[in-house]
Order: sequence, then C-alpha cells, then structure tokens
Amino acid sequence: MPELPEVETVRRTLLQLVKGKTIKQITIYWPKIIKKPDDIDQFRDALVGQTIHDVKRRGKFLKFILDDYVLVSHLRMEGRYGLYKPDEEYDHHTHVFFSFEDGTQLRYRDVRKFGTMHLFKIGEEENEPPLSLLGPEPFSKEFTEAYLQDRLKKTTRKIKAALLDQTVVVGLGNIYVDEALFRAGIRPERIANQLTSAEYKLLHREIIATLEEAVAKGGSTVRSYVNTQGEIGMFQLQLFVYGRTNEPCKQCGTILTKTVVGGRGTHYCENCQK
Ligand code: ZN
Repeated sequence: MPELPEVETVRRTLLQLVKGKTIKQITIYWPKIIKKPDDIDQFRDALVGQTIHDVKRRGKFLKFILDDYVLVSHLRMEGRYGLYKPDEEYDHHTHVFFSFEDGTQLRYRDVRKFGTMHLFKIGEEENEPPLSLLGPEPFSKEFTEAYLQDRLKKTTRKIKAALLDQTVVVGLGNIYVDEALFRAGIRPERIANQLTSAEYKLLHREIIATLEEAVAKGGSTVRSYVNTQGEIGMFQLQLFVYGRTNEPCKQCGTILTKTVVGGRGTHYCENCQK
C-alpha cells in the first residue's frame, strides 16, 4: 500500500499532469469505487464542466480541488492514475475515465478494486469521513512531541499498531513504521504507553525524518511502486529493516528478525532496538 511519501509523489506528478484541465466526460466501469454520492449519475453530473485547480494530499488521500467540489481519492493497495490519449489501449483493470476538454484522459486503474472516491462540495470535505477521522499530518505544527506522547500514553496497544492507526498520526504504513522504530531504537512489540520520555522524543523526531527523507527521494519502490509518470522511487536502497529479513543490520551486523505484530509482517534488529 502506498504510504505518505508515495502518495505525495503521486500528488506532485498528478498536479503537473492535470492542473487547469476541464472535465468533459466521465466513464465508470466499476461503480463501487465511487463511495459518495451513492448515485454515480450524480457524481458524473457534478464533475462534468469542472476544472481541476489543484491536487492536495491529506494523509494517504489525494484531494482534487475543482471549482465547486473536492474529489477525495484513496489508492489503497494497487490504485494508479495515468494520463493518456483517448485512443491508447487500456485493460479490464481500468475502471474510471475522466476525459478532458483538451482531448487527454485521466484513467484510474486498480487491479484489486480496493480504492475509493468520495465527492464533496468544496469546504465540506474535512467535516465528514473519511477525512474527518484522520489525525494530524506528521509535518504539521499540530504534530508535536507532547501530542504524540499524550496519544501514545492513552493506549495499551503495541507501539507498531498504534503508529499504523491513522487517527494518531497520518501517513505511516508498514514500511515507514518499521523504519521509524528502527531509527528510534524501539522494538515494535513494546506497549505504546510504556516508552520512556526520551523514547517518545526520539520516535517523534524519527517519524518526521524518515518520512521527509522518503518524500525527498520520491517514495519507495517496494511492491514495484511506480508513480504516474512511470518514474520509480529510489528510497528502497535506503531502507534499514523493512523487507531485509535474514540480512545483516546496517548499523551493527546482527541478522535482522521478522515477526508479526498486529497481523502485520514486522522487521527489526534485536540488538539495536530495545
Ligand atoms: Zn542492529
């Protein structure tokens, strides 16, 4: 699943591809992707004639900002956007087509069909699920050390599970939680409310640093992630623990361990993480 850095890369790429384009027609082959409104004719009627002015991100959601509406899109496991000419071929995994007045076409392809789209009147998108359920952005001023410590002190879940919870902080998934916990020297199975003050502080710093570095490098290539212009992210080379089971720790040489925490494959160093 794409995490914050991958979605941010998609956002930046999409913005270059679709900014200023006006929707002329929409074709939907898999209506279940559209979660709001219930009626897909309403979805189409609302969007035809609208111009895309911006593409923003909230957590792992993309927000297409139009004249009167905001389209909130989550890629889930396999969702991809791409810009095409109408005569270019597509396969049966391509479910939604936004045809623009300039003759190009934004296509949404999703092999697993887990992706979602919600349409809101502009300004109302943060008041309702899914966006109203989200915790702070890791790069925002709301995400302070004190906030993180306070939230984690309130839960007896394992620290890995707590950090995957998008109501605590948005954007982290399996890869970057493992990376941030390694960099902070904290075992993923630790109970979230039992870290030391120094550990909360370090964790806060490393969550931000891990995500910032990944954004700067264009997202991870794990699970053959490719952005909408076909550019492959370069962060994979930098990962310390994720996907490196039975390989030596880059910091101490100990063979890395894989375990399961909260149902998720979890990678860590027995020596570096206490
Ligand atoms: Zn180590």
